[in-house]
Amino acid sequence: MMTAEHTALLLATFLEEAAQRLASMREDTLLLETSPGSREAVENLLRGFHSFAGVSGVPGAELLVMVASRGEHACRRLASSGDAPAAADLVRLRNLLDVVTDEVGGIATRGAVVVPSRPEPRSAREHDLLLIEDNPLQRTWLATELRQHGFAVRTASNLAEARSEVLARLPEAIVADICLPDGSGLELIAAIRKSPDGASVVAVAASALDDFIDKVDAIRAGIDFYVEKPVDAATLAARLRSSIKARRATGSRILCVEDDVHQTLFLRTLLEGEGYEVTSCRNGEEFQVALEECTPDLVLMDILLPGVSGYELARFARQQDDFRATPIIFLTTEGAIDARLDATLAGGDDHLVKPIDPAVLLPVVRARLSRAKLLRQSLDCDSLTGLLNRAAFSRRLSAASAARRKSDTASALVLIDVDHFKAVNDGYGHAAGDAVLISLASLLRERVRPSDAVCRFGGEELALLIHDVTEADAIRLADRLRSEFAALGHGAILDESRRVTFSAGVASVDDASTLDAWIARADRALYEAKRRGRNRAVGASTPMLRTVAPPVALSSQARGG
Ligand code: GH3
Ligand code: MG
Ligand code: MG
Ligand code: MG
Repeated sequence: MMTAEHTALLLATFLEEAAQRLASMREDTLLLETSPGSREAVENLLRGFHSFAGVSGVPGAELLVMVASRGEHACRRLASSGDAPAAADLVRLRNLLDVVTDEVGGIATRGAVVVPSRPEPRSAREHDLLLIEDNPLQRTWLATELRQHGFAVRTASNLAEARSEVLARLPEAIVADICLPDGSGLELIAAIRKSPDGASVVAVAASALDDFIDKVDAIRAGIDFYVEKPVDAATLAARLRSSIKARRATGSRILCVEDDVHQTLFLRTLLEGEGYEVTSCRNGEEFQVALEECTPDLVLMDILLPGVSGYELARFARQQDDFRATPIIFLTTEGAIDARLDATLAGGDDHLVKPIDPAVLLPVVRARLSRAKLLRQSLDCDSLTGLLNRAAFSRRLSAASAARRKSDTASALVLIDVDHFKAVNDGYGHAAGDAVLISLASLLRERVRPSDAVCRFGGEELALLIHDVTEADAIRLADRLRSEFAALGHGAILDESRRVTFSAGVASVDDASTLDAWIARADRALYEAKRRGRNRAVGASTPMLRTVAPPVALSSQARGG
């Protein structure tokens, strides 16, 4: 929602820009009187009127917009005919400019008496957080601290109370003590992850310094991060906030391409108020950089930009794989609306007319984003298992490998291949084989953090990308997943007693090598796991040492396909 402060700020930037723009438009009309052939003066006037014709979010600007769009129209006709303006044209432009100037003056006078309304209640922006801590002193202290940092805190002193709080309403974030009187906080987090929408919760475990918290257990429970006691409330609050933001941001980054500062501020205020993450840029060069850095889910594109048109930028975006399907909404003034065809040809999705009405913009943005999300899902996900497909997973691997080059963050790739899967298909049919793959996929998805990636790498091969772990930890994780899956009964699909196993190859990212080399190292480790008898996890770095395996070898066959 647009608050009174927002409106006041918008008004102030509008007036500041308007004064400069009016002065330069005045110079352009003078220039046209002395040298009527100046195309530059016509272009500048066109831009000036265009930008007043698109003023949004300023109360009482209706007449201004109407008059300015006539000016824009007149300039556009002059510009496209290429003729020098006749005396009558000059008089008309000057008159239009006079009315525009008067209207801006009127807005300034009326704006001064706008009384700001009361600020929005704070609760509307607070994050719902559940704090589980059995020690009453620590609980009260941390709850008070977190409330001061803007969280709406609910508390529980044991797992049972926490469960009923979660049932009553799924919190946005949860901070759970590891050692509780009736169990471990990790149990609760693992249970939340399995519930519908459970992946949306930011989950933090808190442990005393001398509690041994196993990173692999924590990953399998699906925690986002853990903190040590005594908790530093300010740091915790900041990390919670950025995790919540990252979680919310999925599917809702918007890039505004707009050279008009006031218009940009208007769009930003409106969209950020709806929880979107907004990046803005002003010209073609900035657009290229912003596209890479912000990877927007939707682009709002002004058409008249310095030196380039929004249509050209849209075509540029459409030529890149990552943005082929990104919705682009063009923003233009009434005067340029005949350009609708250009918008369609450039691959744009919608055309909205400035001044932008929030009641139109927001529903269009929402609808385009949700359609794009469905499209993305169908492009990125495997239809059998719902996991990421290989192309989407490769992008995640590239990002992890780029992150490695910039900092110390280590990620590990785990390649998983079902053992003797042919025998499952031959014995029980292809549909049963499919069902086994689906159960393996959901086990993996449940047992890693939402930020980790799980992929159908191809056929009966799946893959995990685990962030922020050493290779040794990733091997232990892979091995626990292995033993969990090997113990799983498949009574409904196969025989009661039939077990299925998998082999895993683990390789942590190394800063020197390419993506292909990284995958090849994991693949060699997987091959080694097969060679050593299957149903085991092998690491790439030191295969001789880093193997964790049960003694039973199911077959001595070498790994095929
Ligand atoms: P191992 O990997 O242990 O060496 O033995 P395997 O029997 O799994 O060997 P291989 O990789 O040669 O065979 C994989 C089989 O998986 C062959 C293929 O028919 C089957 N398969 C691949 N994709 C699917 C699928 O989507 N559904 C089903 N049901 N089977 C699949
Ligand atoms: Mg513009
Ligand atoms: Mg296999
Ligand atoms: Mg295979």
